[in-house]
Amino acid sequence: MQKVVAVLGGGIGGLSACHHLSKSPNVSKIVLLERSGRCGGWLSSIRRDDGAVFEQGPRGVRPAGAVGRNTLNMVSELGLESEILPVTKDHVASKNRFLYVKGQLHKMPSGPGGVVRTIPPFSRPIIQSILKEILIRKGTEEDESVHAFVSRRLGSELANIAIDSLCRGVFAGDSRQLSVRSCFPPLYEAERSRGSVVLGMLMGSGESAEGPNCIPQYHLGHWKRLEMMRQYISNHNLPLTLTGASYDGVSVNDVIFSGRTAAEGLIGKT
Ligand SMILES: Cc1cc2nc3c(=O)[nH]c(=O)nc-3n(C[C@H](O)[C@H](O)[C@H](O)COP(=O)(O)OP(=O)(O)OC[C@H]3O[C@@H](n4cnc5c(N)ncnc54)[C@H](O)[C@@H]3O)c2cc1C
Repeated sequence: MQKVVAVLGGGIGGLSACHHLSKSPNVSKIVLLERSGRCGGWLSSIRRDDGAVFEQGPRGVRPAGAVGRNTLNMVSELGLESEILPVTKDHVASKNRFLYVKGQLHKMPSGPGGVVRTIPPFSRPIIQSILKEILIRKGTEEDESVHAFVSRRLGSELANIAIDSLCRGVFAGDSRQLSVRSCFPPLYEAERSRGSVVLGMLMGSGESAEGPNCIPQYHLGHWKRLEMMRQYISNHNLPLTLTGASYDGVSVNDVIFSGRTAAEGLIGKT
């Protein structure tokens, strides 16, 4: 039977769902409901008269793993490959990353040599924390903050400096409030399955965990709320699926993938 599908919200998640729905012969009509005057959500670029482009939202995607490949496939299906500006591993932008700590800029290590030496603002080589991590007993909490998790496993210095900055950069959030289980599922799964983040990263974790002014914040218990929502939808047989940054990952890749999964949940594989 032919379906009419409504997509609520024209951010990249909704647009990805529309793209995959539009490929299905079982969908006769797609209605995209967008509250603002433009599509794209957080994706927003300003093009100046001199040709310079300023990104107000996301400015890069990591083309790694299944979700990265999925994004590249969609880009290719849309004929947008020539628009990609690749930043390769040897690109100057990949090699020069800085942290601003206590009034000073510090260049972060970019190769293996960087983890065996003491590099400010850290007080000892990062390799020490990595090796110690393997011996630390696995936690028992169902969920904990990103900061608590990293402090427990890798020490408070890495939690305070490196991970806190990462959380501010990626989630615009506070590592003391964000949930490790929802924000960094591979780390959580690595500890659960291998007893160590380092071993889990090296060996594979064994199983995959699969507000208007800010990116959604995955606070403690996010996974439980998500489970309840999905259960409710299923119990009431609602013709509804969830997509977008509020649920299973905030990166553009995650959101595009969730749009595809939502479309496929309604109409089968595209
Ligand atoms: C500054 C910034 C930089 C970022 N940088 C990166 C990056 O470099 N790489 C990366 O991978 N990710 C990055 N992200 C994250 C990523 O951009 C977002 O998580 C992603 O774009 C969210 O897409 P979405 O479709 O889920 O939601 P949104 O982009 O929030 O879109 C939701 C849409 O729904 C509409 N809407 C809301 N409510 C209603 C309603 N009731 N009825 C109708 N329409 C409604 C909104 O108007 C909006 O258009 C960044 C985010 C920000 C804010």
